[in-house]
Amino acid sequence: MSMLDKINNLKDTQCIVDTICKLVSENECAGCGKCVFGYEGVTQLQLMLGDIAEKKGKSTDLAQMQELCQMMKSQSLCETGEEIGAAVLAAIDSYREDFEDHIGRRGCRAGVCRKFMTYHILAEKCIGCGECIDACEEDAVLGKAKFVHVIDQKECIQCGACMEACEEDAVVRAGTIKPKCPKRPIPCKRK
Ligand code: SF4
Ligand code: SF4
Repeated sequence: MSMLDKINNLKDTQCIVDTICKLVSENECAGCGKCVFGYEGVTQLQLMLGDIAEKKGKSTDLAQMQELCQMMKSQSLCETGEEIGAAVLAAIDSYREDFEDHIGRRGCRAGVCRKFMTYHILAEKCIGCGECIDACEEDAVLGKAKFVHVIDQKECIQCGACMEACEEDAVVRAGTIKPKCPKRPIPCKRK
């Protein structure tokens, strides 16, 4: 399937930023170096797309990528560079709103980009065992024995270690819709 076909057949569970970033990186231009617009173009696209996925996108990124991709389309030495330029242009045209949501830090609609997700502890499931506190290297989990634990969103770096550590499935990951959770530790109802 060509890059364009993959973009045109994007599923609801796939994020365009994540998908196009992977497609660009997987291409042979990244390891070729025979032409400036292929190699350098791919390198610049990887940096910009990576930043957008990591919540570090800038308002100028889309215009810069479009300008760069036009040049890749017309000046790359082989079809691969041209195909990448055309695919990124098509992605921006078809999914501009999704790119703008990432750049404006509003969210990742598909719930794929890790930096746009938040972690929460469900009061009805937490037994206050403390395993999540031990797993969190950022000291972002607040709580004590037999109290519902709470994640301090300002300290959390979205690594997911607490979710892996919790055997009660009390830690959940959320996209744009967040679960209702206590703001500070409260005694557990569940024993
Ligand atoms: S969230 Fe899970 S690991 Fe953390 S205290 Fe509650 S039950 Fe234990
Ligand atoms: S996701 Fe990582 S940083 Fe955030 S609370 Fe869980 S373990 Fe700590």
